Amino acid sequence: MANVLVTGGAGYIGSHACKALKQAGYTPVTYDNLVTGWQDAVKFGPFEQGDLTDRGRLDEVFAQYKPVAVMHFAALSQVGEAMSEPGRYWANNVGGSLCLIEAAVAAGCLDFVFSSTCATYGEHDNVVLDENTPQQPLNAYGASKRAVEDILKDFEAAHGLRSVIFRYFNVAGADPEAEVGEFHQPETHLVPLMIQAIKGERAALTVFGTDYDTPDGTCIRDYVHVCDLVDAHILGLKWLEDGKGSRVFNLGTGTGFSVKEVLSHSHAVTNTEVPHVIGPRRAGDCTKLVSGSVRAGEELGWEPKRSTMDQMISDAWRWHQSGYYER
Ligand code: UDP
Repeated sequence: MANVLVTGGAGYIGSHACKALKQAGYTPVTYDNLVTGWQDAVKFGPFEQGDLTDRGRLDEVFAQYKPVAVMHFAALSQVGEAMSEPGRYWANNVGGSLCLIEAAVAAGCLDFVFSSTCATYGEHDNVVLDENTPQQPLNAYGASKRAVEDILKDFEAAHGLRSVIFRYFNVAGADPEAEVGEFHQPETHLVPLMIQAIKGERAALTVFGTDYDTPDGTCIRDYVHVCDLVDAHILGLKWLEDGKGSRVFNLGTGTGFSVKEVLSHSHAVTNTEVPHVIGPRRAGDCTKLVSGSVRAGEELGWEPKRSTMDQMISDAWRWHQSGYYER
């Protein structure tokens, strides 16, 4: 079975990608420094601990496993933290990715699937974003991901590296079999925070701003089920294997939900009201991020199957009943 190097395979999306890779007949080799990931989440293939900035360690892992491709998920990904500690984002997300890309090229591993973000687009009023929307990131997180996209283009021109870049919208939900799920420490994402608030594991959720220019005043996001998202990655890997060349795809559903709408779906699914209070805006947040997925549908044949809000919340809820990872 062909090996695929999965950076961040101990994290939320990476662990789901490892399961999907295994189901698709690949061996996922997780490379993760466990700063935000969990060794308990590595269930579907070998684990190699290491940092993206450690070129020697990367070279060893490439030599040992000879992966046919890289799926690069490992990154710092919190908008709030990126506003207060931008240096960490540039060093880890850009410096680390550059080191990884150089190691991949040196090892002759030239198929590269990269998790980028809709945060590279920044603010575009009342527009459904597509891949040609100008990228004007509002925070160091988005800026760092855009910089890696640029590195990939330069390395294609110079070294023949082929990349599929996925710009994610908001990812939610969990493996329906509850083998892996979403767990960050500290947690900052809306769906797991809501669930923890319902379970009484934390104080009330704070809704970050009700004065946005949206129908109910709260921010609107496009939520995609993590299993649909990783399905797209398998299709992206096959796209590269088929020699179709570098391409960027947005992964959204075209449907936006406000924070208040997510709270009310959660109430309906779990039968419990989410304890919440209203707070000020969070620095770096955009009013609305919604994307069509016309290109991913037409070219990759991607079709979201589980990305209804109720399905995402119920899958997340099921996983959260089964306990959390431990270090
Ligand atoms: N949000 C919120 N309270 C929280 C966490 C998030 O109101 O405690 C809002 C946030 O402002 C955004 C949406 O929920 O509009 C999704 O935020 P999340 O951090 O989950 O993802 P992001 O949009 O930053 O990628």
